[in-house]
Amino acid sequence: MFSKILIANRGEIALRIIRACREMGIKSVCVYSEADRNGPWLEIADEAYCIGPAPSAKSYLDISRIMAAAEIADVDAIHPGYGFLSENAHFAEVCQHSGIAFIGPNPDAIKTLGNKAAARAAAVAAGVPLLPGTKDLVETEQEAIEIANSIGYPVIIKAAAGGGGRGMRVAHNEIALVNGYLQARAEAAVAFKDDSVYVEKYLERPRHVEIQMIADQHGNYVYCGERDCSLQRRHQKLVEEAPSPAISAEMRRKMGETALKLARSCKYTTAGTAEFLVDKQGNFYFMEVNTRIQVEHPVSELVTRTDLIRAQIMAAAGEKLPFTQADVEVRGHAIEVRINAEDVDNGFRPCPGKITDLFVPGGPGIRWDSHIKAGYSIPPNYDSMVGKLLVFADTREQAIIRMRRALSEFKIEGIKTTIPLHQKIMHDANFMKGDVDTSYIEKVLLAKG
Ligand code: ADP
Repeated sequence: MFSKILIANRGEIALRIIRACREMGIKSVCVYSEADRNGPWLEIADEAYCIGPAPSAKSYLDISRIMAAAEIADVDAIHPGYGFLSENAHFAEVCQHSGIAFIGPNPDAIKTLGNKAAARAAAVAAGVPLLPGTKDLVETEQEAIEIANSIGYPVIIKAAAGGGGRGMRVAHNEIALVNGYLQARAEAAVAFKDDSVYVEKYLERPRHVEIQMIADQHGNYVYCGERDCSLQRRHQKLVEEAPSPAISAEMRRKMGETALKLARSCKYTTAGTAEFLVDKQGNFYFMEVNTRIQVEHPVSELVTRTDLIRAQIMAAAGEKLPFTQADVEVRGHAIEVRINAEDVDNGFRPCPGKITDLFVPGGPGIRWDSHIKAGYSIPPNYDSMVGKLLVFADTREQAIIRMRRALSEFKIEGIKTTIPLHQKIMHDANFMKGDVDTSYIEKVLLAKG
């Protein structure tokens, strides 16, 4: 097993990894930017090194600075968390060449599955169901028009290197298609330095259901049930739950086995997520694989009683997974809400600033994964998520009641947060029935006012 791990990340996920390390008897080393000098997670880590100024490009995304810290701290592995360098195949290769384990899949699996167009091809080869769309990248507007005509509108143009809901455009007709094609390319060029795009059928009002996968280097592949992440704004998840109110045990098994088929075909190891869209008839279509641990992983940990970060570290260290498929039983219900420092009434404008007072809910069935404390100033340079509030209960109904109770106790003073929106969601009649889809928040809940 590793004795020391460097965490190439910040905030709540850095803290989550520190916690796993501590329970495993592994020393944790954090790297941080000047803007994160007062990050509360740094006090809990065993060591911390400043690697540069606030802009991510000069700190959390600067491979040479991170590797220099790894050399100085003499670590045997690097955990990339999510975002930043977590799906960067080059970074995984640099780690490999430096004799430092990258806690993630091998660089080839990242190359294949981290690129959405390449992942589509891998899915076709593995016999995984997909929405109709391009086999290759779309090079011209004319090509996009031909594909759209053959599969029928609406279609979605997607950046192959995309992530975080960026580089995507929906088109219901040819004019929107041409505009969307050019916009998606331009956005992707700036955001990902890669303007390649592809086109697929746009499914109206689907659910987003994803399968948590974990695999070791001994050929053991396990799926830990599904998460329903249908409640989104601008293709960004806000609420996640498990199990999905729309998935039967039989469908869970089918989706799980489909996801693992794809993982096996790429010799995938460690943690990953296969994302699917599910239509009203219960058909599911592969969308992409996230080749890293995801924000919403604790939802699966609660219903399957696993520690996914621990399992991920064990897999990267060459150990066998601490559980088998037969051990993983989905029991109870978990819900996660993302608490973001955002002003919901003003277009979800980020609201960084000082937290003047903080009271965190507790009691039965509550989990709070967060790095914030009273007196902490949220820097304006990074993601606006300040924490994840999770509840666990025997049934979905009890979990919703528990989440309402927890949210009503929550006090975060000094900044605006998404808590009021989550209270609204937890009291929404359609959400309570489990009758929502990926456009519900924008088209119904926010539109209702
Ligand atoms: P990203 O990697 O940027 O998060 P994804 O491919 O995971 O992008 O898609 C994010 C969201 O966009 C999905 O959860 C869904 O709401 C929407 N979406 C993507 N592809 C389609 C599609 N073909 N039809 C309908 N909605 C889609």
